[in-house]
Amino acid sequence: MISADGTGIQSVPGVPREFHCVRCGDCCRWSGCVMVGESEADAIAAFLNLSVEEFLDGYTALAPDRQGLTLIEKPDGSCIFLTEGDECGCRINPVKPRQCEGFPLRWNFPGWEKECRGAAEALRRERKNGKS
Ligand code: SF4
Ligand code: SF4
Repeated sequence: MISADGTGIQSVPGVPREFHCVRCGDCCRWSGCVMVGESEADAIAAFLNLSVEEFLDGYTALAPDRQGLTLIEKPDGSCIFLTEGDECGCRINPVKPRQCEGFPLRWNFPGWEKECRGAAEALRRERKNGKS
C-alpha cells in the first residue's frame, strides 16, 4: 500500500488512507525508547557540533534490554530533543533516528491510531466522507 501523504513511502497495513501528520509532537512526548544506531549517533553528533563521545554521554542511555542506546528523556517523559512552544519541533530533525522517521508509516503499534492526532483526524474524515 502506498501512503496517501505524497511521499511514496510504502506504509504498513492499518494506516488510514487520508493520514497526514499534523506535527503535534505527541509521539515525541510518549515515554519509551528511541533507539540510536552507530551511524545515527555519528550523524547526530556532527549535526550538533559535538564529538560522538559528548553526544553519547550527554544525550543517550543504555536501553532497558541492554541491546543498544536510546535517547534520554526529559523529566516529563518527552524526548530530550523535543522543543516546545508555539511550534513544537525536533532539534535534530534532519538527522533524527530512523525510528522517528518511520512512525507511523513504516511501523506503528496496536492502538497507535487512538494516540496519534493525525490518525484520529484522518479516521474522522473517512467516517464523515463515508456517511455523505
Ligand atoms: S502523534 Fe501523529 S500527528 Fe502527532 S506528530 Fe506524531 S505522527 Fe504526527
Ligand atoms: S528525536 Fe526528534 S522526532 Fe525523535 S522523538 Fe526526539 S524530538 Fe521526536
